[in-house]
Amino acid sequence: MKKRIAIIGGGASGMMAAITAASKGAEVTIYEAKERLGKKILATGNGKCNFTNLVQEDSCYRGTDASFSKPVREAFSMEQTLDFFKKIGIEPKIKNGYVYPNSEQAASVADALVMELRAKKVKVITEQVYSVKGSEGSFLVKSENGIAEFDKVILCCGSPAGMKNPKEFTGYQLAERFGHHITPLLPALVQMRCKEKWFKTVSGVRTEGVVTVYENDKLLAKEKGELLFAEYGLSGIPVFQVSRFAGEAVYRGSRVTCKLDLLPNYSLDEVTELLQNRLLSLKNRTAEEMLTGLQNHKLNYIMLKECNIEPVTDSKKAYKPEDLQRLAKLYKGLTCHVTELNPFANAQVCAGGVDTSEIEPETMESRLVKGLYFAGELVDVDGTCGGYNLQWAWSSGYVAGLHAGID
Ligand SMILES: Cc1cc2nc3c(=O)[nH]c(=O)nc-3n(C[C@H](O)[C@H](O)[C@H](O)COP(=O)(O)OP(=O)(O)OC[C@H]3O[C@@H](n4cnc5c(N)ncnc54)[C@H](O)[C@@H]3O)c2cc1C
Repeated sequence: MKKRIAIIGGGASGMMAAITAASKGAEVTIYEAKERLGKKILATGNGKCNFTNLVQEDSCYRGTDASFSKPVREAFSMEQTLDFFKKIGIEPKIKNGYVYPNSEQAASVADALVMELRAKKVKVITEQVYSVKGSEGSFLVKSENGIAEFDKVILCCGSPAGMKNPKEFTGYQLAERFGHHITPLLPALVQMRCKEKWFKTVSGVRTEGVVTVYENDKLLAKEKGELLFAEYGLSGIPVFQVSRFAGEAVYRGSRVTCKLDLLPNYSLDEVTELLQNRLLSLKNRTAEEMLTGLQNHKLNYIMLKECNIEPVTDSKKAYKPEDLQRLAKLYKGLTCHVTELNPFANAQVCAGGVDTSEIEPETMESRLVKGLYFAGELVDVDGTCGGYNLQWAWSSGYVAGLHAGID
């Protein structure tokens, strides 16, 4: 008799698990709470779906045990991902290593997966699952309109990241009922809220810079790229990349600060020299006018305010020699205090999830309950921005589907 497999969650990892298990001869049913499969995929990569990345480094994957994802990613690599998607019709378009479908439409990725599910005769039930009970060889899945029995279950429920009502997310409860533990859940790849009032003045400014996060005085993470200032604090890709570390430190109750290097192409000495030269050469200007063209004028204004220099005073009178040094230090390391991260609704991903010490990385099977498997973001693995979260969904979905299908 064919193995009956239930997959709870028809997102990226669930669809990959279903296609893989069905291709090994299993009879597969996907339960999806939403009206269509792969809804989150539609929002990825600003609607273009950055589905993997040519650069694969261990540091792109995080989690309480950051090494957990490695054997899973090796079992279904980026190269295998590209092959798989080509086979189902998705030609890649590569930009600086970031991989998108050539159509630049996230919907084509979701649609191609759905077509493949249809070809593999996977049954789709668009109902929410309320409970999964049982153990080895017999699981009862209770959904909105019925109860069905399965030999194996793969939990692929995703995370509350990007959800308007994160409290409605029940995936972790399904895992907890089997005795699994959930590590602290924090929004990641998200904006950081800061204490400083001057953010209101610089809201909307974008600039190249480096953001460095400290927990007390310990350096946690550093990223370069386009910083975006918002009324509440900081946004932009480099901020997203470091946000998970800041979030964990805030969660631990530590003092969390960011230093912003707003002139990353100059050393501190070069900035000091530049300011000295400008003071000499740019005559008849106010303190603020002397900085025009060096950085965004709103940022220049904040620098002066932080140095207690009056912007409208004649520059010759405004600046004492030590002020130029202080100003240079500010451009190279403007400090802001992180109070919290923006909530799950704004986050691209969730840090934390089902404790990986309770999962076999070779198979993605539970170490507590035989026949129960996990995949995707439900698990305590998260990736950096750049296609790594979907790569994790494909790799873990493949491994779970393969072993549920053959073991
Ligand atoms: C705005 C945004 C942009 C992103 N952009 C990118 C990107 O460009 N590249 C990238 O790599 N990653 C990106 N991500 C992250 C990526 O989308 C996720 O990591 C990935 O979709 C996770 O796949 P998953 O299968 O684990 O979960 P999901 O795709 O969330 O799928 C889980 C599914 O399970 C269903 N479900 C949950 N509980 C139940 C239940 N009890 N019964 C039935 N169904 C249930 C949910 O409705 C959902 O459809 C982005 C995320 C967001 C929010």
